[in-house]
Amino acid sequence: MEYMTSVILYLLKASSLPGLMLFFTRKPKKDENKGSLTVLDAEALDEEELEAPEGFLARLRAGLEKTQSQFTKRLEGILVPGRKIEPQTFDDLEELLITSDLGVGTTNSLLQELRGKAERREIENPEALRKKLREELERILKKVEGPLEVPDMDRPFVIMVVGVNGTGKTTTIGKLAMRFRHQGKSVLIAASDTFRAAAIEQVEVWARRAGAPVIKHREGSDPSAVAFDAIKAASSRGTDVMIVDTAGRLHTKVNLMDELKKVKRIIARELTGAPDEIMLVLDATTGQNATQQAKTFNEALGVTGIVLTKLDGTAKGGIIIAISDEFKIPVRFIGVGEKIYDLQEFNAENFIHALLD
Ligand code: GDP
Ligand code: MG
Repeated sequence: MEYMTSVILYLLKASSLPGLMLFFTRKPKKDENKGSLTVLDAEALDEEELEAPEGFLARLRAGLEKTQSQFTKRLEGILVPGRKIEPQTFDDLEELLITSDLGVGTTNSLLQELRGKAERREIENPEALRKKLREELERILKKVEGPLEVPDMDRPFVIMVVGVNGTGKTTTIGKLAMRFRHQGKSVLIAASDTFRAAAIEQVEVWARRAGAPVIKHREGSDPSAVAFDAIKAASSRGTDVMIVDTAGRLHTKVNLMDELKKVKRIIARELTGAPDEIMLVLDATTGQNATQQAKTFNEALGVTGIVLTKLDGTAKGGIIIAISDEFKIPVRFIGVGEKIYDLQEFNAENFIHALLD
């Protein structure tokens, strides 16, 4: 009997059961202003969904196919093997890079470098020029390679996901949650995009798919109050990663930034050192607009990581280089589709390989 009791006590101590019990026995909070706190039960992980149809590089290639074929076809037209390098070659190259969303600043410095090398006879033919261009692009991208590391810690690792509407925040959160769950980490999502009811429903759908609980309030409630409740829930559950979805309406930009700053402030107040990541989601198909968004969000919140989505579409791809060159903020992931496994850790070498070879 005594043995049994000690076993039970041991088990209670070993698991973080007391915290969990506390959490589950707590009544859903009813607050007239805030609406109710809701915890969705996580569904079991659907292993089928995790199985990507093809391998990693194949999917990256398939995703980048449209971008790739546009860029390389035009590049081949400019850098024809056997021909001489003319001043026109650089003009054509400049046009290609600009129209591929590399941005004026990056294009200019790249061309200056390449022209200089040609003048000094370090580059003597189109093949060498292509090789050098490839090297330079990879060098720029290498600088922003920086995978998101989630260390073991005695509090939840908090990721605040920001970006304008439609860039893919909620989708990315679903993909990320799945990724963490697959790594054996527990995840909790805060539905802090309270602007529209549909936004809350959408994050719930993704959370279900990923098997992660959601903390939500009613539509129109204070996003930072949702984050606050999520911190309490994640802390008492011993959750590994907490991901905060946020609103991104553009037409009231100042209010949005104030709202996001407040969410960040509340998280920092409740958990020392958090948020651990301010993750900006950018839509690659919006070209130079994405650069402006990066500037705005970075100034207001201090972005620590970027996710570039929709690289599977008609995106020109060059935007990743423009942003890398201008902001030097690590690119954590790229989105190459709408499915839960269509999120890849950003790797400069693979990216350039898929884009140019
Ligand atoms: P949010 O407003 O920032 O939360 O954006 P959503 O997550 O709702 O995404 C907006 C749209 O972009 C949805 O239709 C998504 O399916 C789509 N989307 C998100 N990421 C990707 C991606 O990597 N590739 C493609 N093709 N579509 C994406
Ligand atoms: Mg959303």
